[in-house]
Amino acid sequence: MPPVTLLIVEDEEAIRDMLRFSLSTADFSLLDAENAEQAKHLLATRIPHLIILDWMLPDKSGIDFLKWLRQQDSLSHIPVIMLTAKAEEESKIKGLMAGADDYITKPFSIVELIARIKTVLRRGLLISPADQITVRELCLNIANHTVSIGQHILKLMPAEYKMLHFFMTHPNKIYTRDQLINHLYGSTVYIDDRAIDGQVRRLRKKLRPYGYDDLIQTIRGSGYQLVNTQSKGSSREKK
Ligand code: CA
Repeated sequence: MPPVTLLIVEDEEAIRDMLRFSLSTADFSLLDAENAEQAKHLLATRIPHLIILDWMLPDKSGIDFLKWLRQQDSLSHIPVIMLTAKAEEESKIKGLMAGADDYITKPFSIVELIARIKTVLRRGLLISPADQITVRELCLNIANHTVSIGQHILKLMPAEYKMLHFFMTHPNKIYTRDQLINHLYGSTVYIDDRAIDGQVRRLRKKLRPYGYDDLIQTIRGSGYQLVNTQSKGSSREKK
């Protein structure tokens, strides 16, 4: 099984170092960012299994970042555990915590944090059957970030996963390259049109051995579209 990747968003270096050290000894793979902007850049290419998010960040509050995250099609499913300062009132935290899966008050014990992480991840795995998106035999599992066709597991790069996830959740609609950049990376990150073409090309190459390379079609002069011809009854995009 691939390691579970955690993203730590925390501006205090000492806490970041402590978390990185203690969580990597617990077999987690770690990414870290010291502010919301850095975290967004990271999320453009990597999709962690869980985010540990500090409440007080220098550029944007953790809550604002969380709201942003929940509006991103390809990121909104990622569970979040918030780190809060002891000074915050419990009731206030709960009220504002909409969108977080759990929170832990500083100072906290690393043992407790690991227990919370495991509980939140397990909750994600339990709901996994409903969190599958399928197009014919192609199956994308949101909870454990795997893509399979029949018995075969596809090895996708995070950016390819993200793109496939977007297309599978928005079938039979044409998206321009600019729209795709916005949906996949947000408007704050600069990405060239040709990067989208390259990503589609790589994705098709990985789908080709299974006869799925025509899934994402090029619409001349417009952009790209996932064509799901079997989506009569189950499509969410019914006209
Ligand atoms: Ca802080």
